[in-house]
Amino acid sequence: DVITAADLENLAVLGHGNGGTVYKVRHKTTLVTYALKVIHSNADATTRRRALSEISILRRATDSPHVVGFHGSFEKPSGDLAIVMEYMDGGSLETALADGTFSEERLKVVARDILEGLASLHERHITHRDIKPANILLDSKGEIKIADFGVSKLMCRTLEACNSYVGTCAYMSPERFDPEAHGGNYNGFAADIWSFGLTLFELYVGHFPFLEAGQRPDWATLMCAICYGDPPSLPESASPKFRSFIESCLKKESQDRWTAAQLLTHPFVSKDPETH
Ligand code: ADP
Repeated sequence: DVITAADLENLAVLGHGNGGTVYKVRHKTTLVTYALKVIHSNADATTRRRALSEISILRRATDSPHVVGFHGSFEKPSGDLAIVMEYMDGGSLETALADGTFSEERLKVVARDILEGLASLHERHITHRDIKPANILLDSKGEIKIADFGVSKLMCRTLEACNSYVGTCAYMSPERFDPEAHGGNYNGFAADIWSFGLTLFELYVGHFPFLEAGQRPDWATLMCAICYGDPPSLPESASPKFRSFIESCLKKESQDRWTAAQLLTHPFVSKDPETH
């Protein structure tokens, strides 16, 4: 059934994003709780365009168990645009990290769930383009889902379309900064895998890989390290399987990087006992 503004009552504000506010709402008759992203009618054109694009991408991807559920969208008489999403009650991987770093055991599960989400997006020719701890949401049932498709792209025509500068700078892969030097064509699918590798790395060590703990980023230095330095490697405490997995995600050349489907067969995350 189609959900409209009149069906919902506000419970709380969950967060503010770029140009929108996310509310916790309840359906008055079914009593189901949802997250409602509202883009104000006076938002700038870019914000509105991103919201419309997020709606069309969520609609395509919502049957994946590791993509945040989509339950429709509507425009209020005021001109506000609203997106009804599954409510994830456990915060994000960024907030979870504030409680402490993740063990390898936990990361195996986290990695597999995110990869299943990424594999289903990539199969549908969708690149997320902003994979980072804050955009992976959790719920109290232990589910892990990819959210925030505001800068995602459906790769229907040319890879060129992806070259525009979007997403969070720090998690960008070497070829996003410098396509010539790193495998030529910018490949949005491989770029998601790079960001995914950095995300796992950060959850394990507790800080962004290219920086020391607590160090504030200086963008020029960071960009040089990402493009011209070696990929970061895990501390000695990490197992060989985990190291190998992260290496497969963080290959400098995008064409050497494993795909989501390949990574799902890696012994670090594989469910197949023969590969262990
Ligand atoms: P933006 O795309 O504008 O950055 P986000 O999608 O990241 O906005 O949402 C902003 C905040 O709202 C997030 O940090 C998160 O805490 C919260 N939020 C977003 N979607 C959900 C959801 N489905 N369930 C629970 N909280 C959510």
